Amino acid sequence: MKVAVWQGGPKFTIEQRPDPTPGPGQVVVKVDTVGVCGTDVHITQGLFPAKPPQILGHEFGGTVVATGQGVAKSRIGEHVSCDISSHCGQCHNCREWNWSRCEKAERSTGAFAGFSLVPDQSAHKMPDGMPLEMGALTEPASCCYSGVGFLEIQKDAVAVVIGAGIMGLFTIAALKSRGVKTVISSEPVAARRDFARQFGADILNDPTKDDIGEVVKQATGGHGAHIAVEVVGKPQLVGKAIELVRPRGQVLLIGVSNKGTTLPYDLYDLHYKEVRLLGAFGRGNAFASTVHEIAKLDLKGVISASYPLDRVYDAIKDSGEGRGIKLAVKPNG
Ligand SMILES: [Zn+2]
Ligand SMILES: [Zn+2]
Repeated sequence: MKVAVWQGGPKFTIEQRPDPTPGPGQVVVKVDTVGVCGTDVHITQGLFPAKPPQILGHEFGGTVVATGQGVAKSRIGEHVSCDISSHCGQCHNCREWNWSRCEKAERSTGAFAGFSLVPDQSAHKMPDGMPLEMGALTEPASCCYSGVGFLEIQKDAVAVVIGAGIMGLFTIAALKSRGVKTVISSEPVAARRDFARQFGADILNDPTKDDIGEVVKQATGGHGAHIAVEVVGKPQLVGKAIELVRPRGQVLLIGVSNKGTTLPYDLYDLHYKEVRLLGAFGRGNAFASTVHEIAKLDLKGVISASYPLDRVYDAIKDSGEGRGIKLAVKPNG
């Protein structure tokens, strides 16, 4: 099989490797589509700790082509969306934190490759009719569905989502699926606001034209939003989110603020308003249910472009420059 090996910085080599054979409890997945993640961008920029050489790529789907000992042969031919790692369900982290933090996790091998070795448990069968390439979207989506799962949803709730990139979009969809009545999407890029509508946003705000504070006031009779979600990763926008919620409001942080940044907000006000701040990192326990959640959505156009394996760095670079919603690599395409 062909693989793209990350050699540090922006450097990748395309190499030929033997096709993998599945060990006990594993399946071999012929990779169809791999999403480029912000983490991949940060790794090539030296902003996320990773050691070369290695095969990157962790948002992917494909077809099961071989099964190891203990795995039903009938899985061969299944279209699957793959989780990064397995979970034991027994360890401290599985019980007290979440499955994506499992201490005994077995990882799927990097997906910028013709095939990936995946723990049987981590290869989730996709619902019938779901286009195979959308299997690459479950991993990013599950981070949003997991985070939104932490929220308490009141009757007639109004939620603001700051940012409508891929994570903002899935956050909007997750809020609607949990019964939030009104979702306000705040996003400066017009094309992304169109996607926000496609994903279920009720009110669209262009923050370069209209003050989001005014929009929220109008939608809530001046009380403020029940929920505000920051999905960009900028501390000043986290501050903005706190400002937008009503007393006892909930603020969810799905965006990844840089390490070392602090909260630019009046802590007296946070205290006085009894705001609940919630962090949200990773897939939690949500991967399996998220495959079914996103199969219900209109995902048309979300994968903006697909690159062949030889152009994996172009995909990562273009993604880092904010082109499109989700860029993907098709290792066998
Ligand atoms: Zn990712
Ligand atoms: Zn565990």
